[in-house]
Amino acid sequence: MNKINKVLIANRGEIALRILRACKELGIKTVAVYSTADKKLKHVRLADEAVCIGPHSSKDSYLNIPALIAAAEVTHADAIHPGYGFLSESADFAQQVEESGFIFIGPRAENIRVMGDKVAAIEAMQGSSVPCVPGSDGGLGTDEAQNIAIANKIGLPIIIKASGGGGGRGMHVVEEIADLLTAIELAKTEAQSFFGNPEVYMEKFLTTPRHVEIQILADEHGNAVHLGERDCSMQRRHQKVVEEAPAPGITSELRNKIGTICADACKAINYRGAGTFEFLFENNEFYFIEMNTRVQVEHPVTEMITGIDIVREQILIADGQTLSFTQDDVKITGHAVECRINAEDPNNFMPSPGKITQYHVAGGLGVRVDSHIYNGYTVPSYYDSMIGKLITFADTRLGAIIKMQNALDEMVIDGIKTNIPLQARIMKDKTFRKGGMNIHYLEKMLGESHS
Ligand code: ADP
Repeated sequence: MNKINKVLIANRGEIALRILRACKELGIKTVAVYSTADKKLKHVRLADEAVCIGPHSSKDSYLNIPALIAAAEVTHADAIHPGYGFLSESADFAQQVEESGFIFIGPRAENIRVMGDKVAAIEAMQGSSVPCVPGSDGGLGTDEAQNIAIANKIGLPIIIKASGGGGGRGMHVVEEIADLLTAIELAKTEAQSFFGNPEVYMEKFLTTPRHVEIQILADEHGNAVHLGERDCSMQRRHQKVVEEAPAPGITSELRNKIGTICADACKAINYRGAGTFEFLFENNEFYFIEMNTRVQVEHPVTEMITGIDIVREQILIADGQTLSFTQDDVKITGHAVECRINAEDPNNFMPSPGKITQYHVAGGLGVRVDSHIYNGYTVPSYYDSMIGKLITFADTRLGAIIKMQNALDEMVIDGIKTNIPLQARIMKDKTFRKGGMNIHYLEKMLGESHS
């Protein structure tokens, strides 16, 4: 390593453990930070040093920038890895980390800032020939007649989205012009209260798209590659439930075409690190919706089919190293599926925190478990309900699904409720097995469809 000898992991749970493992393999020392509710997290025990950064509330701990920077200072860390969620997409955090003399394992603050504002992100993408959803060309003004004209020009149905949006919240679909102005007002009010930014914009609402996203890696020397795509169409309330790679039905020509556009866009905006271009995919066309400037929950499916360790690459890039491979070296083999394992009631999706009284983990060839839980671990109620990810890899899609079905059968997590029964049901579902479902399919399967 050139500059990084010790990394502070500014996160918790499975991703903190994932980062710790990558650091250990690279011979890098680790600092875990934890809230008072997380003292018993697995990575806290495994890290070289551990610092308590505050009480259980995220606001006072994992989102507490001064506490994180102070922890890096007292432990003499060189770099900070933000993981996903929490401060991972905070341009202010990235900036303060670097201004305090640490390396931020992620993109430059200015890239995070642009991508965090969806209107600015779309503008940046249009400048780089990334195909976007037909839309309002910027935030909506207050001129009602003009907003009606924009909607008519795009063609109904349309969706109103917040520029500062995230987490699938605050979006409104409008089917009739008569509902447009009220929906815009509501969306603005929500955008202000959820995201602190009232700007909203309009996009064509695609009725039956799939969610297909492209993983990229870019170094600071102007090299960028894509690692193919993931299909994350199995969603409930805009939250991904199952992910897979490659996406069924995407030809290598189409992959290379869209992947090259994304890699070129990274070069054009001087992007550094790992990132994901999220697209809606309908009628064989890609429509950009947003870029995530961090490692994603579903990164393992890409790792399984490319053999590239994305977190390791993030660290090497932050260390100032040149990517050690080119686009031609990236080979896609086999198929990987990921099931998110959540501590929640599989029937009503209510969180189910508590103590794990029995834990038996799945295993075998092509089975990967990324999870921080263990026998006797208590899942706190303060954070996201995801307690791990089960990933399977096989030569074929069906092979990976069958492996997943068996792995889900093998997993025993007692004491709390989990969504394992739901995941098992999905794996057996005939339509899922065919592949290529659109983003509404899971809700339809669950009988929650609103359309
Ligand atoms: P967020 O950042 O809040 O997750 P996204 O822009 O990524 O917002 O959109 C989240 C989800 O909302 C998408 O995966 C898709 O299900 C739906 N969605 C967003 N834009 C559109 C659109 N133009 N047409 C249809 N569905 C959309």
